[in-house]
Amino acid sequence: MKLSRLCPAPLPPGLDLPLEVVVGRGARRSLPDLLGEHVGADALLVADPQTRAAAALGDVGGAWLRLPEHPHADDATVEIVRASVEDAPGLLAVGSGTINDLCKRAGALLGKPFVVFGTAASMNGYASGIAAILSEGLKTTVPASPARAIVLDSEVLAAAPAALAQAGLGDLLSKPVSDSDWWLSDQLEGGGYDTLPGRIVDAALGEAAAAAAGLAAREPGAHAALGRALVLSGVAMVAAGSSAPASGGEHLLSHLWDMEALVAGRPTRLHGAQVGVATCISAALYHRLLRTAPRFVAPPAWEVEAARVRADFGPLADAVLPHAQRKHARAASRVATLRDRWAGIRDALAERPLPTPAQVRATLDAAGAPSTLAALGVTRADAQSVLRRARDIRDRVTVLDVAFEVGLLPGGVDLVLDDAGV
Ligand SMILES: [Zn+2]
Repeated sequence: MKLSRLCPAPLPPGLDLPLEVVVGRGARRSLPDLLGEHVGADALLVADPQTRAAAALGDVGGAWLRLPEHPHADDATVEIVRASVEDAPGLLAVGSGTINDLCKRAGALLGKPFVVFGTAASMNGYASGIAAILSEGLKTTVPASPARAIVLDSEVLAAAPAALAQAGLGDLLSKPVSDSDWWLSDQLEGGGYDTLPGRIVDAALGEAAAAAAGLAAREPGAHAALGRALVLSGVAMVAAGSSAPASGGEHLLSHLWDMEALVAGRPTRLHGAQVGVATCISAALYHRLLRTAPRFVAPPAWEVEAARVRADFGPLADAVLPHAQRKHARAASRVATLRDRWAGIRDALAERPLPTPAQVRATLDAAGAPSTLAALGVTRADAQSVLRRARDIRDRVTVLDVAFEVGLLPGGVDLVLDDAGV
């Protein structure tokens, strides 16, 4: 169906969004027509061995580019896809996060359209306007047009490895805390906040969360509900012109786990699995902030902060310092605003639909998704450390900054982790 029919809120004109989204039982049958209409019948079909087998598409025309097992969305693999699609009119991405990002990026480099046949409800990038690419060892997000059409067949989604949909749910559940971070950032520094992204995704998010137990039971309807909500989460980011409504402080925790794993040569975990647990921590921060008597903390001089960042980040310090410095440059002004307006901000936060950590954990548990640090393989010491430092890696104001600026962190790290119940 047309995206405009799936989306419950009217979308402003001119946004770079998928035109058609087909989610549900038998969705695969729409693929030949959508390919013919949007990318041409002899599109290059891109898959890895697992996603090709999972999709079981049979002959849909076009030649297959068979990527190696477990491909990465990195520069070298983008180049393989780009070189292979030069003579084709466009691409069909058959897979989930990695294959979607590879095709999105390669298509953007050549100005060629793509359609995605998603094999797992694992992330919210199907409709988003960014591709996450590992470039020279660093995870970067680059602008790129989303797929012209998204096809999510619920029986394919339900048959995917359970951890993928669990990760999709974890990523989705961050929305209330990340959207509140976006609101807080606007309160403290301006920059704009809009209720439209929430109106796009909230109903679908509620349906997907209510169906969490069906994910574990491999019910196609539950996987379709999650797929729809993840597509709309991507649409919400495009409508916002930023990832802010779906990516706040909880995402910074996840990104820092990834950065440190990459630097140490360890494998990264599924993004959404980390985000789900981090969302419990962010929810705990919010609820603790509402009950904390604030001490408005004047920021230390930049030289003191810079020395701390160097000590805290070791080999990552040079990459982190510019972001930390930009955010620190406005810290005194944020603290002044907090001091002037704390009572009003706190009362407005209390009115926002912020879940408790127990509610987030219960939804994750219903799906069988990781809901504790131990389930992720993260130690308590690592979580303490990441909670103290994650705000430094990006110049985006979140609840992590406010927690420091009202004196809850760093002293309350254990209190917050205990509240989170992770
Ligand atoms: Zn995410």
